[in-house]
Amino acid sequence: MKTKKQISNKIQIVTLGCSKNWVDSENLITQLKYNQFEVEHNPIKEVSQTVIINTCGFIDRAKEESINTILEYAGLKKQGQLEKLYVTGCLSQRYKESLEDEIPEVDAFFGTMEMPGLLAKLNANYKKELVGERIISTPLHYAYLKISEGCNRTCSFCAIPLMRGQHRSVPIEDLVLQAKHLARNGVKELILIAQELTYYGLDLYKKRALNELLQKLAEIDGITWIRLHYAYPSKFPLEVLDIIRDEPKICKYIDLPLQHISDPVLSAMKRQISKEETIRLVNTIRDKIPGIHFRTTFLVGFPGETEACFEELCQFVKEFRFERMGVFQYSQEEDTSAYGLGDLVQADTKEARAAELMAIQESISYDLNQQKLNKVYNVLIDKKENNFYFGRTEFDSPEVDNDVLFESTNKNYLRIGDFVNSRIIKADAYDLIAIPEL
Ligand code: SF4
Repeated sequence: MKTKKQISNKIQIVTLGCSKNWVDSENLITQLKYNQFEVEHNPIKEVSQTVIINTCGFIDRAKEESINTILEYAGLKKQGQLEKLYVTGCLSQRYKESLEDEIPEVDAFFGTMEMPGLLAKLNANYKKELVGERIISTPLHYAYLKISEGCNRTCSFCAIPLMRGQHRSVPIEDLVLQAKHLARNGVKELILIAQELTYYGLDLYKKRALNELLQKLAEIDGITWIRLHYAYPSKFPLEVLDIIRDEPKICKYIDLPLQHISDPVLSAMKRQISKEETIRLVNTIRDKIPGIHFRTTFLVGFPGETEACFEELCQFVKEFRFERMGVFQYSQEEDTSAYGLGDLVQADTKEARAAELMAIQESISYDLNQQKLNKVYNVLIDKKENNFYFGRTEFDSPEVDNDVLFESTNKNYLRIGDFVNSRIIKADAYDLIAIPEL
């Protein structure tokens, strides 16, 4: 076979945005490494001859960060510090033409489904046989598993379907192969991600197949924790609750973005669920799986969110006391169905509402963490930094949830990637301090 000439052997990939983008970068890294490239992922300082930026286009702030990053590297290219600059990911998918006009320093832009084209530009071959294999750049003991791409929902504020297309489930056998490969390489925790986890299987098998997938993943030796991110509340498949409750490997944790609770806002957001149905679902989940920890996300400042709607949301958060919560501020996105509603809530009001909601959550989180004092949890050690080891319980996802900290003095026996029974001795709003229980 004819070997193509590579343009530069060292490539730097800069990944912005969410864990789904991270997985895309890992797949790209795998392809590049098998094409004999040396790849660095998110290095702090060094600049390689070739740089690929994997962008995010989710909301205003994410787009701004992506554009600033492209401009920063375009500047370095102008100064002669790098030879080739490529941009991929969501922002590139959505705004390719205008970006090409505005940032000519970039050698080529690629959409979210154009990895083969990007590889061709680097004179690399797209290796189909590598699908399922992935060189991870998270710590070796956990990995994201993207079970589907795209989304068929029509939430009026969301631009994701414009960038990621319609829902496409990855076949169960491919995911099992991928998970086995990860487990063989030391992964103990699989973090399932998708734009919409609960839709899994409907396109491919004409039925929801998350349960079947979970069952098969739980059978894999070496996998100890399986975590679920991004479930959609409307028509939530309740049978999933049984397997979460009964299968010890599945973390008693669910990430269920609710976005709002006020009926007029939910309806304008086209979330296909009412306040009453949402409350019923949250109660059902808690009844079926005692002790489950919820992560949810709310969106404030949606057009038409009055003071009364926001107050209703605050009351809901106070009453339902979610274990983990995040807040986004509404960003008016072109081509979404909410675009025509305008951007009616002032920026400072959005900011204030987000801050107020997070302040409520901080106090809830503090109280809930106090209840963990003197209890023993199985903690997975993620890293060591300065004088501390950092780990997580099954109720915490990396990057977004609580850390469990151990002072590292005299604890040389702790190993990154090990599970350690740990007694919580101190707790604040977002961190727990523990000692190993030997
Ligand atoms: S379910 Fe999530 S990804 Fe899909 S349209 Fe709604 S907010 Fe966007």
